[in-house]
Amino acid sequence: MCGIIGYTGPRKAAPILIEGLKRLEYRGYDSAGIGVGCDGALTICKKVGKIKDLREAVPDDLDGCYGIGHTRWATHGGVTDVNAHPHTDTTGNLAIAHNGIIENYLILKARLEAEGITFRTETDSEVIAHLIAQHYEGDLEAAVRKALPLLKGTYGIVCLHKGNPQLIIGARSGSPLVVGVGEDEMFLASDVTAVLAHTKQVVYLEDGEVVVLTEKDFHITDLNERKISKTIDEISWELEEIEKGDFKHYMVKEIYEQPEAIERACRGRLDPTQATARLGGLNLSPAQLLDVERIRIIAAGTSYYAGLVGSYLIEQLARIPCQAELASEVRYRNPIVERNTLHFAVSQSGETADTLYAMRELQRKGSCVLGICNVVGSTIARESNGGVYIHSGPEIAVASTKAFSSQVTAFYLFCLLMARKRHMSYETGEWFLQELTVIPEAVKAVLKTEPVIKKLAKKYAGYKDFLFLGRGINYPVALEGALKLKEIAYIHAEGYSAAEIKHGPIALINEETPSMFLVPDDRLREKVISNMKEVKARRGKLIAVVGEGDDEIREIADDVIEVPRVHTLFSPFVMVVPLQLFAYHCAVLLGRDVDQPRNLAKSVTVE
Ligand code: GLU
Repeated sequence: MCGIIGYTGPRKAAPILIEGLKRLEYRGYDSAGIGVGCDGALTICKKVGKIKDLREAVPDDLDGCYGIGHTRWATHGGVTDVNAHPHTDTTGNLAIAHNGIIENYLILKARLEAEGITFRTETDSEVIAHLIAQHYEGDLEAAVRKALPLLKGTYGIVCLHKGNPQLIIGARSGSPLVVGVGEDEMFLASDVTAVLAHTKQVVYLEDGEVVVLTEKDFHITDLNERKISKTIDEISWELEEIEKGDFKHYMVKEIYEQPEAIERACRGRLDPTQATARLGGLNLSPAQLLDVERIRIIAAGTSYYAGLVGSYLIEQLARIPCQAELASEVRYRNPIVERNTLHFAVSQSGETADTLYAMRELQRKGSCVLGICNVVGSTIARESNGGVYIHSGPEIAVASTKAFSSQVTAFYLFCLLMARKRHMSYETGEWFLQELTVIPEAVKAVLKTEPVIKKLAKKYAGYKDFLFLGRGINYPVALEGALKLKEIAYIHAEGYSAAEIKHGPIALINEETPSMFLVPDDRLREKVISNMKEVKARRGKLIAVVGEGDDEIREIADDVIEVPRVHTLFSPFVMVVPLQLFAYHCAVLLGRDVDQPRNLAKSVTVE
């Protein structure tokens, strides 16, 4: 959610800040601004709308080689130019940008107003500027340190003062910040994509840390001024990976990257000689893995659906009780932690607040929580007891696609590892590996059906309501298909187990409500066909995703999307792709902002 960038160095700051904000656009925002210091002056430009609107508002001759920038995703106060960050103190000498929420801002604001300070914005963040200013006596770092303990809530803060040229201060509590170490220049950002064009050397900040950046150096301390030495990490992503290339949108680019994403998630982790998988990052001994009696997966949104797929697979093949649950619900349920239960926290960004807080609560209760994350160095990745990086490469589109496939892949690897430790024979392990290895090619084949799906999108994009129906391991895929259509096309869609429609949703069926059925190739097939007939009898339009050459379904359904035949347990990989493409093309036809759909943010760092 929202973004922060800071720069100090020999170059003009404004273009660097704006370019950094442009890279952060994908996270979702409603307004943006920069603050640049130069020769004892401080200039603030901020604007509702897109970064290009901000760029137009920034004077070309804005000099100054240190500055801060922000993309806001409003939580407190309307989306207005005034409420956009950076915020200044009453003198206009100091500016801050803030990600997160200051929960006690009303108390702080009342206190500051009683002391004669006039507030100019409706945001919670403005209090930070006034509090730092109150403690400022020439030393910005000292002033920030004195202000921080007064704040309750979450923050990533970046701050500068016109009396301290070339100095940028950052502080983090619950909202990510990373230092980009350049050559004779320093960056601070909420996300590595903002600095990748300039440096690959980064240092991740932890909660409770304060960073001081000067042109040539940085130092990090905790709130008690204890120096913290950090290692510099190297970002493995390439700049091209965060660019759209020839694709019209990031989303479709990422849909097309899925075969490679699945391969990347498997790379170095398949062990054909033992017919198993290797997942070194779990940090669990073979004995500990054997002791696992129950698995619980916590996640939100698309990651939750990936976890649900995992739970079906793990129960079926590894025969270990496994449940996927919404992290937001787990946290506040005073979760029961049983002995020998292994938890997974699944989050693409590794910053999802609901998942992170649920993970911390489970850890407080003594559980082992493993992370399944994409972003290296993210909070969940660092705080979990071990885990699996999915290595999808950067996912820029707000609606997740390739990360879903990679998360699912991680569960397949884990399932194989656990199953082989228990009941699965060597031969079945070989079969599993064989099935998994052909998946990238099968997904490539599904991508070839894009023209068919595009035509279907033309036919159906005008409908207002959809049902997505699947059974077994494809039930979560139906949920994901409905979510994609809601997220980017803003079409109301519900996902159900096909068996469930007769228990209620069938009341919605008429000519105006099409249903997308995922037809399995297993013993549930006949049941699903019956459900399709029930819908047809009520004049509901039927679209079916089926295995190649399924003539029987062609006769029942109005429209058919064929996918390669893979074993039913592996079918989520091929079933999900047409649903992603369908949502994508509906969204394009309806003129939606595909990569940055309204009201959504990429990494949801608030509860
Ligand atoms: N709570 C702050 C605001 O509404 C910051 C929001 C953000 O993280 O972008 O201005």
